[in-house]
Amino acid sequence: MIEIIVVLRRNSIVMFLFACCFFAIAFEVYNLALHPNLEEWREQGLVVSSVDTKQKVVALTFDDGPNPDATPEVLNLLQKYEARATFFVLGMYAEKYPELIKSIQYQGHEIGSHGYSHNIRQYNNPQLARSDVKRSLMAIASISGIRPRLLRPPGGFLSRDLVSYCRDEKLTIVTWTWNADYKDWKAVNSCLLAKQIITGVEPGQIILLHDGGENREVMINALSLVLPSLSKMGYEFVTVSELMALKNQ
Ligand SMILES: [Zn+2]
Repeated sequence: MIEIIVVLRRNSIVMFLFACCFFAIAFEVYNLALHPNLEEWREQGLVVSSVDTKQKVVALTFDDGPNPDATPEVLNLLQKYEARATFFVLGMYAEKYPELIKSIQYQGHEIGSHGYSHNIRQYNNPQLARSDVKRSLMAIASISGIRPRLLRPPGGFLSRDLVSYCRDEKLTIVTWTWNADYKDWKAVNSCLLAKQIITGVEPGQIILLHDGGENREVMINALSLVLPSLSKMGYEFVTVSELMALKNQ
């Protein structure tokens, strides 16, 4: 009898832990770019993931920088192929590498905020999320002289509070085209990564890449293949704001 109770208790504990894990994962997924209100927010123009256009244009976006190892190389490549892009920078790195923010700006690219510290869990607390965004905007504006109009929350985090804060602050939340996230941060083969981007391209895509983080060589090598190939296919690389202006054109 005691043994049965012990087994039952063990099963209950396992079931309880399983349920906890399930709800924790469900909560994260709910907040990370798959929010049930997403479609409504897209229709209202509060969240942008891609732009309906017939023109051969795409927006390349680079997250988590600026990064002294990768950002200059990305900038050189963009300049070589006369491509413009959008850099969603972290406030803490903008403060650390202000000269890179200025280089991005001087070369005609757009700078959006990716929050201050990339602490995604902080975003579960509306107050902490607001102050993280605010701090990043101030950091970027103090260097570039321009307050960003675009926010890509870390991890694509979305919540009602964050969306309403951004609406009040006239910030557009920019995620990415769902099938244009090639997980470049863990890619090991630059030819394969380039091939995925080239074969998956469609007008109006917002392509997610990362200049921040370590080991960016694979992404940079892929970019050196993607830029000439897509240019030959007739594609133009524009900033996210320029892409948004081409809606329904
Ligand atoms: Zn990020």
